[in-house]
Amino acid sequence: MRILVTNDDGIYSEGIRLLAAELARLGEVVVVAPDREQSATGHSLTLSRPLRMQRLEEGWYAVDGTPTDCVNLAILSLLRDTPPDLIVSGINFGLNVGDDVTYSGTVSATFEGAILGVPSIAFSQEVSEGFSFARAARLAARLVQEVIAEPIPRDTLLNVNFPAGEPRGVVFSRLGKRVYRQSVIEKVDPRGRKYYWIAGTPEWQEDPGTDHGAVQNGCISVTPLHLDLTDYRGLETWGGFAGRIDGILGSDPARAR
Ligand code: MN
Repeated sequence: MRILVTNDDGIYSEGIRLLAAELARLGEVVVVAPDREQSATGHSLTLSRPLRMQRLEEGWYAVDGTPTDCVNLAILSLLRDTPPDLIVSGINFGLNVGDDVTYSGTVSATFEGAILGVPSIAFSQEVSEGFSFARAARLAARLVQEVIAEPIPRDTLLNVNFPAGEPRGVVFSRLGKRVYRQSVIEKVDPRGRKYYWIAGTPEWQEDPGTDHGAVQNGCISVTPLHLDLTDYRGLETWGGFAGRIDGILGSDPARAR
């Protein structure tokens, strides 16, 4: 069993250190992670400049790029001849629930894993009173152990969030919905130019069936994700549009000629 570990808080974060240490009991661990914090970089791939990978110690590699870059370089270059059986991302400092997953570098690393055909799991830790990366790392390793006990489908993508306190149980949940009250702070710099700072604490729709609801109830939330963003209901509701678009094509003088 070979496990690739990455994150978006950077290779020096406590969450990745403790996670890698716990996972090392289950198999060979290779860490390929950003050399600095890359939170909220989403599923971003660096194409405009070369990337550097620095070996810090046996099995630990720092990359001057995003979490997606790290997974990409690891799978397609560093571990090309010895591919990992699983990719584990985290443990993130802070939850990644609901709409967060579209911003999250932690979760996006698992999107990249899934695209490259490696089952992937993301772990994030709620940060408030009573939180412990040590406890989360132990539980994460236990969860990974359970997952790998059976053959894992290549398209497996799990998003796991730990509550701050001692967890009361494990709940399978769906993605929650953010209530958008986030604000932008507008100020003026010493040279008289405006600058902006995205601020505010996200709020959430109350719903016990969601990942956010599960963590609110003190439970570990596990949300299976997939990368097919198709709106299947939309395929029906927008179906009638095809005819109208056909009509547009018919009235196009260029086509009539
Ligand atoms: Mn982060």
